[in-house]
Amino acid sequence: MTETTIPLPPITEDAGTGATLEARRISCWFGDHKVLERVSLTMPAGQVTALIGPSGCGKSTFLRTLNRMHELVPSASLAGEVLLDGEDIYARGRRLTEARRRIGMVFQKPNPFPAMSIYDNVTAGLKLTGQRVRESSKDALVEECLTKAGLWKEVRARLRQPGGALSGGQQQRLCIARSLAVRPKVLLMDEPCSALDPTSTRRIEETIRELAHEVTIVIVTHNMQQAARVSDQCAFFLAEQGTPGGIVEHGPTTAMFGNPTDPRTADYVEGRF
Ligand code: ADP
Ligand code: MG
Repeated sequence: MTETTIPLPPITEDAGTGATLEARRISCWFGDHKVLERVSLTMPAGQVTALIGPSGCGKSTFLRTLNRMHELVPSASLAGEVLLDGEDIYARGRRLTEARRRIGMVFQKPNPFPAMSIYDNVTAGLKLTGQRVRESSKDALVEECLTKAGLWKEVRARLRQPGGALSGGQQQRLCIARSLAVRPKVLLMDEPCSALDPTSTRRIEETIRELAHEVTIVIVTHNMQQAARVSDQCAFFLAEQGTPGGIVEHGPTTAMFGNPTDPRTADYVEGRF
């Protein structure tokens, strides 16, 4: 199949204010198993949206459909639309690499390239997405991204050391820096602090709040305090009695925690299941 090529914007594109991501009626199957049923959610530019809910209700799957990452699973199929500033990332002719460049992902387990230097880890995404950066601009880009990820001061004197030599929290911040280097509009984070200690967790939470000024953030977390601390709005997912996952309630975080309208949300945020 030939795909229309959409030219990549230059890497010098200024850091913006993020873009609004809108999922419309997303259904997802693994083979015959339907795991999401017509899920719609708007994730506004400049905000942090937290996806919460019990294990197995489809949060990670939903997150992956937001940048076509679910396509890595051969049995996965999808219905619905995902609009990035109004353009459907699934529309015919849309390039997969372009969707993934604009919508970055950070995983639960920090996954820097362990043998690659800290410096090369930051710039690795540029090659993968086919973007050229002048050698003379690279140093500035690396410093900028590591600074935004809150890691610059700790690693500036050892940029040639392997990424795998860093602590877990530092590795996760390196992964954030790597995501930022390709100038994404949206950053998807799947339980980014679950493998980290409380101090590293706090630092990543601070980074998330700061990044929200320029990148739209969607974070899956099972930590209710974290959702309350970092997010502007929350969506509560549930998959009841073998039914596919869906959103029970969503809204501003203060309302979701302070005054939930659905009793199941209240039970969940207050830790009753
Ligand atoms: P959560 O992140 O909320 O814990 P997931 O999105 O990981 O939930 O899983 C939702 C459902 O999809 C579960 O029933 C899970 O078993 C199923 N699932 C997830 N990934 C796969 C996969 N790669 N192949 C088959 N089923 C999967
Ligand atoms: Mg998950």
